[in-house]
Amino acid sequence: MTLLSSIGALPSNLHVNYYFEVCSLVFLVAITIAYYGRKKFPVSTYRLFGVALITLVVNLSLSILFCVLLDNSNVVPIAWVEAVAELYFFMQLVESYLIFAYVFYSIGKSLRYSPIYLLTTLPSALGAIFMFTNCLHHLNFTFVLNSETGVYDFIPGPGFFILLYIVNWGLNTAATLVYTIVFRKSLPKQILFTLLCIMGIVAVAAVIQTLNPQVILSGVSFTLSVMLAVVSVCDPDVKVDRFSKAFNNEAFIEYINVQRFEKQRKYYIIFDIESFGMFSEKFGVVASNELVSIIRKFIETVNKKSFIFRTTSSRFVLLLRNEKEQKEMVTAIKERFEQPVRVKGNEVVLTIHLFYFVNNKVFYNSDLYNNFIARTLSTINFRDSNFVELGQEFMDRVNRDRKIRDILENCLKTNTGLYMVYQPIYDMNQKCFNHCEALIRLDNNELGYVGPGEFIPIAESFGLANQIDFFVLNETCAFLQRHPEIESLEVNISCAEFFNNPSERFLKTIDNYGIDPNRLCLEITETIAVKYPTKTREFMNDLGQHGIKFAMDDFGSGYSNMARFITLPFTVAKLDKSLLGEAVNVKVFFDAAVNLFRSLEIPIVIEGVETEEQLAMSKNKKIDFVQGYYFTKPLKEEDLFKFLKDNKK
Ligand code: C2E
Ligand code: MG
Ligand code: MG
Repeated sequence: MTLLSSIGALPSNLHVNYYFEVCSLVFLVAITIAYYGRKKFPVSTYRLFGVALITLVVNLSLSILFCVLLDNSNVVPIAWVEAVAELYFFMQLVESYLIFAYVFYSIGKSLRYSPIYLLTTLPSALGAIFMFTNCLHHLNFTFVLNSETGVYDFIPGPGFFILLYIVNWGLNTAATLVYTIVFRKSLPKQILFTLLCIMGIVAVAAVIQTLNPQVILSGVSFTLSVMLAVVSVCDPDVKVDRFSKAFNNEAFIEYINVQRFEKQRKYYIIFDIESFGMFSEKFGVVASNELVSIIRKFIETVNKKSFIFRTTSSRFVLLLRNEKEQKEMVTAIKERFEQPVRVKGNEVVLTIHLFYFVNNKVFYNSDLYNNFIARTLSTINFRDSNFVELGQEFMDRVNRDRKIRDILENCLKTNTGLYMVYQPIYDMNQKCFNHCEALIRLDNNELGYVGPGEFIPIAESFGLANQIDFFVLNETCAFLQRHPEIESLEVNISCAEFFNNPSERFLKTIDNYGIDPNRLCLEITETIAVKYPTKTREFMNDLGQHGIKFAMDDFGSGYSNMARFITLPFTVAKLDKSLLGEAVNVKVFFDAAVNLFRSLEIPIVIEGVETEEQLAMSKNKKIDFVQGYYFTKPLKEEDLFKFLKDNKK
């Protein structure tokens, strides 16, 4: 491209064969029309690509016009030729800058704040002005009448070489190349491959043209590059869902990944079609494809400018420009879906679960988005209304979760802020405190104390649970190593990442501290056991073989799949503190649970005993162990031993 014109592509006598350029222009115009005729994907790399296409068409037209005028400069005023030449070389600078900008955006860097951007833009901008004002100084090029041919010859001046070689080639092209290579890891593979191919094509064309200056190949090489780019990276069709003709999930992920760097839409509406699977089963796939198409069309009739994504088979995400549009859309959807929808001759009333909010950088990548969705769906229930507005308070909570995740990540990396406390457990038969439960704590300058009830679920949902488990395991093993007098210690584990096959690592860690595995009792909650029953059983069997014991934590808090829970090889059952409630059904459940474990010969711990009455009741029911504030809150290591000393039998 620009490179071509600079490497000997422009002989002083520029009467060249430009037929290739004319053919290229025809192709390029066809590609441009096709590109603009399709659904446009609203992120800047695509916009930039569109601009680059138009610039190319203009540039190629100018280059042809320039050649034609120069060939006919015996009849055309030379001032016109010069004006076209100025514009042409000016556009060359713009063009290579656009390629550079495209790479920059693809990497995902914010153009506005980068020094590299200024370093390249400023000389390009000055160069462009200098080129554009050639008629005032003639430092870039002049025209001299050739007495033999009767037409003017193009004579490049020093400015021409400085601008096209140094500014354009040296800065823009080199910066593009360097950036492509340096950031090859952050560039999507497809884009990287395409850029390298384009540079290859341009280089080959440059060499051919240098060897044969009478042929101009810049247009051909450019058109080839553009075709390659359209096919491989800038094809908006691959981002469109085939059935609904909304953008697909891949497009949505790309959209949110770049939104941090761009002024993007933040007025979101997300909705699910309840029982979409059932609809497909009943009416068939063709009908469900038509249904999603009807929905997309309806959204477009309400607001033509809305961006519509179909992110899962039954979920749509809409992005609107402002609050007014958002509210209008919610109302329109509400009213529309109260009425039946006609699909392939069937009238169906759909249930839509919708929530809407302003995304002020609450999520800006796919992980955060997935987490946000999971959190939202588990928090809001659509029992009262199927249309829920997520207000500031909710968003603040999500932001706090993210903050906590960052803090946790940092704590785990620096090994600060997280520590263990210990709550003694009273043995009702032996009448002494012979074991305790280890509980994790997080203290942080910014948020102060954050309880595990809050941060453990966050760690689990952000994939940090495994690291926390190993932090806890290391701390508690070290504790047992320091204090051989502690008979056994109960340790909470999340095991939210069973996929990593943690048993081996667990055993290795315990072995490292040289402690008797019998002294460890791992507490597993119902949530985990019910979620991953097979993995939990494997894990328990693997570790159980080595003598490690297991306690069933928070029994009775979930009331779910109890049968499955109690068949796992637990050695202790910990009844949740909610079972100490006064309600009649709770009392009935409590008695049933106690009888159940007694008949299974599993010792029982009651958690959360706070009062004399609760202790008396535990005694009455012949409960084996009691844990709770009645005796003490969880204590730091040194306070624990003081407590144990003071409360010795
Ligand atoms: P959990 O395992 O059921 O722990 C018992 C919780 O009840 C602890 O809360 C404890 O401080 C509290 N508690 C003890 N006695 C009483 C009482 O008399 N009244 C009341 N109201 N509460 C009492 P904590 O430390 O805030 O922990 C909350 C939950 O966080 C734990 O419930 C456990 O599921 C989880 N957790 C705590 N430490 C860890 C850990 O190291 N790893 C993992 N994965 N989870 C942990
Ligand atoms: Mg526990
Ligand atoms: Mg518990």
